[in-house]
Amino acid sequence: MTSLFSSPLQTHQFFSNPALQNPNFLSLNPIPTMSSLRSSLSEKSVTPSGEIHVIIGPMFAGKTTALLRRIKTEGSNGRNVAMIKSSKDTRYGLDSIVTHDGAKFPCWALDNLMSFEENFGVHAYDKLDVIGIDEAQFFEDLYDFCCKAADRDGKTVILAGLDGDYLRKRFGSVLDVVPLADSVTKLTARCELCGKKAFFTLRKTQDTRTELIAGADVYMPVCRQHYVNGQVVIEATRAVVESCKNESISYLQAASVV
Ligand SMILES: [Zn+2]
Repeated sequence: MTSLFSSPLQTHQFFSNPALQNPNFLSLNPIPTMSSLRSSLSEKSVTPSGEIHVIIGPMFAGKTTALLRRIKTEGSNGRNVAMIKSSKDTRYGLDSIVTHDGAKFPCWALDNLMSFEENFGVHAYDKLDVIGIDEAQFFEDLYDFCCKAADRDGKTVILAGLDGDYLRKRFGSVLDVVPLADSVTKLTARCELCGKKAFFTLRKTQDTRTELIAGADVYMPVCRQHYVNGQVVIEATRAVVESCKNESISYLQAASVV
């Protein structure tokens, strides 16, 4: 096996390249210095740099409350703010975001984020400084929107959403945005069964759809121990229900044969 750089023939060809022997070759292609890179970068940065802040956690952890607090603070600091939520979540109507403790804020209910600029109005969008996004797990174009809004348009994006579903698997693309973010805050709730810190959302029913939008009637925040115990109980219940169903079907089939 021959090594590319150990071949005497190729070494000779490299140094005998007339372009490399030209004394002007290096001056025609100067290596950029750090200061020249800095000045050329600053000339190109015409839009102010945006920011992305991510608030995650289980249900009932106060994510929407934290988002509203930040948006209100930005607004009272004189910045133009707007809030977006998913049109899938119709629990409290479509024109406002409502926290579990009843606080309200007007919002845009959309099924995708890329339509926001057009819906909001291009001129109004240009003047906007801060965009809040609630229930961010429901937006499939979250990553692309965050890149556009923060990187290109210089907006501050603050989003709140579930990092995991009731099976503790990634929910939507909230986790995809973490590498883009300036900050990530993981909030916790209180375990409904023991009062310790709750990191997970337990679904109390046997429904297996990933997107089942509901409140405390279906979900509860739980600690690790009660999540594991709860899942065991729910799985066992599901197995019993399934076997009863199968038994009654086979009983009916047997009865119809007879
Ligand atoms: Zn617990």
